[in-house]
Amino acid sequence: MTSGTETLAMDGGTPVRNRPWPAWPPPLDPEQRRLLLEVADSGLWGATQGELCEQLAQRYARRSAAGYGVPLGNGTLALFVALKALGVEPGDEVIVPSYTFVACASSVLLAGAVPVVADVDSEHLHLDLAAVRAATTPRTAAIMPVHLAGSPADLDPLLDFAAERGLAVVEDCAQAHGATYRGRPVGGLGDAGTVSFQSSKAMTAGEGGLVLCRSAEVFERAWSLCNVGRRRGGAWYEHPEVGWNLRLTELQAALLLPWLDRLDAELDRRNAFAAAVGDGLRAAGLPVSLVPQPPGTTRDTRHLLMLRFTEPLTAADGEFVIAAAAAEGLPLARGYPPLGTLPAVANSSARVLEAPGAQTAARQVFWLTQSVLMADPAEAADVVAALGRACRALRARR
Ligand SMILES: *Cc1c(COP(=O)(O)O)cnc(C)c1O
Repeated sequence: MTSGTETLAMDGGTPVRNRPWPAWPPPLDPEQRRLLLEVADSGLWGATQGELCEQLAQRYARRSAAGYGVPLGNGTLALFVALKALGVEPGDEVIVPSYTFVACASSVLLAGAVPVVADVDSEHLHLDLAAVRAATTPRTAAIMPVHLAGSPADLDPLLDFAAERGLAVVEDCAQAHGATYRGRPVGGLGDAGTVSFQSSKAMTAGEGGLVLCRSAEVFERAWSLCNVGRRRGGAWYEHPEVGWNLRLTELQAALLLPWLDRLDAELDRRNAFAAAVGDGLRAAGLPVSLVPQPPGTTRDTRHLLMLRFTEPLTAADGEFVIAAAAAEGLPLARGYPPLGTLPAVANSSARVLEAPGAQTAARQVFWLTQSVLMADPAEAADVVAALGRACRALRARR
């Protein structure tokens, strides 16, 4: 809790908070423990042996109102497989947002296609329709909206545009397990959706992923790509297509299946915490606000809480804020640099467009990760107190 003094913890004052924030992942629940041991004891660890991977894909697809799901090794491969299954060919262009994880570009490169990095909306930081429109060429094959931080991209205008131009839409749902857009679950709204179960995500087995698809044809192709080019229901050594072994394991599915039963409760908890931070920041009058959701958000899953500093920060100011907050016991994370500035992207075949929205966000926006958001909402007061100290110290430095 707040100490009486304004001496910053980094200058020897008492930190706002000494207690740790909740750990991520949360402790195993009894059903995870039971199922994990059952699989371990059975010896049926592979997806071709047991039934849990298939159950996970079916249950997740049903929740997402997508027709089909293909479990696989991670979210990066899920994007790659979705693009390939939708017919994206070498040389095709795929439009991706400028404020996102590197996998959105590297998956496109893996498919031999060209990432076209288009700017995001300067307020909500999701892919911007005007930027997509400007980035579209006759070679554009697909658009990849990302449901950033747990809030859905404003999909309807993007889906209308894609339909008009005959483009595929791959929804990146790596940060949005359980999110809804205009009352409909994400992942089943585009031609394909992708999920990650990597260790930082809202449902995790350390690693893992899923491709969601609407049509049986795309599903069959995605399944084949993940299963060494086999045909579903075909002979074991038939291999009509080129594919790879990209499968999830039954041990991973045993950790993930029970999570579906508690995901909603965790999302509610994070939403309550996020709301308390928003209220606290407003009440304290700090120059920090929550990054708003795009139109159409009906359930934000609060994978990350994105905080925007409303007074312009230099790079050095940003470093100071992070160090000051860390000393007060608040792990504030630096968000994404603009995607097109990463050497992996800048030195590739990618076409990088102007991205003032992502550039400003890289300076002004910081994140709280979901483990902080899993604390009791009353502890949001620590977030506000730590940010208050960092902001006042920043002003005093100027
Ligand atoms: C985590 C993430 C991915 C990649 O998932 P992995 O399972 O780590 O490969 C892709 N896109 C976004 C937006 C992510 O956050």
